[in-house]
Amino acid sequence: MSEYARRIGNGGRGGVVSISELIRNGVDPRSYNYRCIDEKCDAPVFPAVPDKVKPGRLRSPSPYFRAGPSERHKDGCMRGAIEERIINAQQQGHGSGALVDGEHAISGGAPVRFVEKSPVKTVGGGGKQSSGDDGADEQRARTRGRGDGGGASEASSKSIEKFVDVYENPPIPHDQLPISIKGCPAKTFAETFISPIEGASLLLNSDIRHIYRGQYDRHEHWKTGISLYFKETVNGLPLSVWIPNTLEPASVLNRLIDRIQVAESVRDATLYVLGRFVPKFNHGKYAIELISPYQCWIHIPNP
Ligand SMILES: [Zn+2]
Repeated sequence: MSEYARRIGNGGRGGVVSISELIRNGVDPRSYNYRCIDEKCDAPVFPAVPDKVKPGRLRSPSPYFRAGPSERHKDGCMRGAIEERIINAQQQGHGSGALVDGEHAISGGAPVRFVEKSPVKTVGGGGKQSSGDDGADEQRARTRGRGDGGGASEASSKSIEKFVDVYENPPIPHDQLPISIKGCPAKTFAETFISPIEGASLLLNSDIRHIYRGQYDRHEHWKTGISLYFKETVNGLPLSVWIPNTLEPASVLNRLIDRIQVAESVRDATLYVLGRFVPKFNHGKYAIELISPYQCWIHIPNP
């Protein structure tokens, strides 16, 4: 019985998922295929979600992955050890104990947590002012320790630009880099960054967000904002990003717009956007509408 498995995506992507995390995020685990977390074993595994209510049970048992009857785990399968390593790395991320040799230690300063920028001003204190901070958008979020005020800190950023930098130049493989974004079931960079084409297949999962990574194609200036297009399409329909010109902070928005202008003049610029595609059939396309300029970035390859 395992909490974790590798989800086999359309492109054969082997990102590690947690079954309880999937369920917490409203994803039906039965809609995907999985394999053992030990790539050398690679046995197909299946989600088992025990019935919630059964007479005589004090509490419902946790869901888990198990191998099927026809193909068992191979001899020497390391799933137990790998699982332990993932759990340790996560506990370190939550401020318990010293960093020894888990994923967090290896990934060094790579951001893990995406800090949501609230579109409205915080009332009643506690919220940090974030005006005029276009350069200083990386911060250390203190995770809660055990009341001693000495909890470990976890690298975080409110801009996907930092995540894109790490994605483009990963210190360790993408499937071992932890990440945490609200609304995204993914646990690693490999699972978080997906093609915008896959985004159109998530339309029914109304709460799921991902970082979509595709080729910049073109953009159009309108009176109220900019339409930015991926080169990828779904059933002939374009996939776009709508950038209202009222987004704040304006300095961050202007930096993004400058970047878009550069993208037009180079070959192979890569467009990244955090969000969820919704159908805009009256415009004949799927679109993500930004609520913050921190949700979008364009990677320009070195000349
Ligand atoms: Zn196995």
